[in-house]
Parts: sequence; structure tokens; C-alpha cells
Amino acid sequence: MEKNKYIPISPFSDTPFLGQAREKYTHGIYAIDPYVEVFKIRDNVWAMLAPCTHAVGDNWLYLIEGPEKAIFIDNGYGIGDLRGLGEMLTGKPCITAPTHFHGDHAGGSAQFDQVYCHQYCADMIKHQLYTREDWEKFNHYGEAQHRYYYLEKDVLPSFESNPIGCPDHYIINLGEDYDIELIHTGGHAPGLSCFLDKKGRILYTGDAVFISYDDMPGLGTGLNGPNGNSKYDILHPECMDAMFFMGRMDDLAERVQEFDYVMPGHGPFDGPASVVTDTRDAIHAAVEDPYNYSEEVLDHRGVKQYNMRRGLARVRYNLEDFAK
Ligand SMILES: [Zn+2]
Ligand SMILES: [Zn+2]
Repeated sequence: MEKNKYIPISPFSDTPFLGQAREKYTHGIYAIDPYVEVFKIRDNVWAMLAPCTHAVGDNWLYLIEGPEKAIFIDNGYGIGDLRGLGEMLTGKPCITAPTHFHGDHAGGSAQFDQVYCHQYCADMIKHQLYTREDWEKFNHYGEAQHRYYYLEKDVLPSFESNPIGCPDHYIINLGEDYDIELIHTGGHAPGLSCFLDKKGRILYTGDAVFISYDDMPGLGTGLNGPNGNSKYDILHPECMDAMFFMGRMDDLAERVQEFDYVMPGHGPFDGPASVVTDTRDAIHAAVEDPYNYSEEVLDHRGVKQYNMRRGLARVRYNLEDFAK
């Protein structure tokens, strides 16, 4: 496929789910950072919709306010004063925890003094998301599919961040007994991790688990293996293996009693915890018989992929790569 071929974007803002969310939750856009639409989804939690700079799909960032500080789970594209917005909404200092290094999730890391993520995510951020050149590459800057919806002055002046690489099950404390646990899943990206808000009983899943309704065939956990991500020079490729992800989903599904809601990085949010067991079932089915897929889809690059569906979950893979 030509690098500059125009890929039409179907804006997430047109989906029925977003209309329902706008009716259900208090929402608005604040002048301090006009690049995210803010939804108040709990007394101490905000979901923020960040428009994608290219064809991949808009995503959700989440702000959780604890007793002493607040944390952004994922931090978007590095456009606008997200940290200032969080500090304005909570009146507390804001830190961040990107689920993985991809530029729609970790692109804004440099504006925070404290960036907590899995060790392999920290390695990938330093390796692939550090310079303006890295940023432009991820955002397809200057290509036909780049969506120039922002002012250049609102792009972060630097992308150099100093992520704190954490081990699996690391606890981030937000004051008193408000704990957030990092749970490594790998699969879609080497350091990909979910974050469990133990008090709020919410699991933030990044790109590991999605709530994928009938009419959303494009929304699945993308598992291409390191070869399917030729844009990146992957460190720790063993974590992108389907068997690795399957083992991690087995462990996570055993902990499903510890949370009631799931908040993914794209698509619908505030879904039931059972999406985790559905994802576990889908990855098992895909590993056992990848040719017995549920549906065929084209990804944002126009590459043919296959979905295995179970319940509300889809796992999406490139058959040639996956069936090896
Ligand atoms: Zn991703
Ligand atoms: Zn993503």
C-alpha cells in the first residue's frame, strides 16, 4: 500500500455509543485543553475522548482522583494542556500511567513529572517515543491521512519523558488506602498493562480488552505479533506472543471478582467485568483453531485480518502470522 494513500476516517463521534454517553454523563470541553471532550463518569473519575491524529481511532483517557493526587491512565497524543486540565478538575497534582507506548496512549507523557508504567513499556517509550521525529512518525505527520485539527503551538515542545519502569503488580498509591495495581498483559504491545482501581472496582484495560458490540467488527484486541507491527522496532517481542497473552488473560480472568466495570482505551466504556472472561475465551479459541474465525476485517492499513468473537469480546489477528 502507498504510504500516502488516503484512508477515510469514520469519526468515532458518529457512533451511537457516543450519543448515549453524552446523554448519560455530564460532559463538556474546557478552554484550558480544548482537545479532549470530558465526561464525568464517577464522583472521582473522568473519561476524556481524544481525537486521533490519523486513521486508527479516537481514544479514551481516564483521570482518577485519589485523596492526595490524581492519575491519568493514558495521556493521549501530546497536544494541549492535559495535565493542567486534570489539576484544574481535581485541585490536586497529577501523575500518569500509560497502558502501553503507542502514541495515542503515551504521547502526552512528557508533560508529567511522574510516569508509571511496566518496565517494558518504559523501555519502548525511551526507544520509540522520545523525539519529535518519533512523534511525527506515529501521527503520520505530513501524510494524506494526518488529521490536522490542532494548532502547532499546542503540541508539546518536547517528548522526552522519564518513565518509571515498574514490575508486574506494582502498586501506585494515590493517598491513604487508594491503590492502583499494574497488571501486565502484553499481547498487543510488549509492556501493555491494565490498571486496577481496587477501591473503585474498575479495571482500565488500554488496548488489551475492548467492549465490542455487533456493529463494531473493527474493535478487537489486535494481536499481530512483532512482525505485524513493522513500524516499530520491538523490544521484548516474547510478550507479544499469543501464548503469552493467553496465559496473562487466564490469570486476569481468575481475578474477575475484584472489579465490576471495564474501561477500555477505544470504543464503548463502562462495560461489565465479564468482557475479561470473554476475551480469555476468544484468545483460547483463536489459539486452538485460528482458521475457524468468526469474521474477516480490513484494518486501518487495509490489511486483511481475522476476528475471533466470544460474548462482547473480539480478538483480531493476522492469520499468516498467528497460525505459525
Ligand atoms: Zn495500541
Ligand atoms: Zn490504542
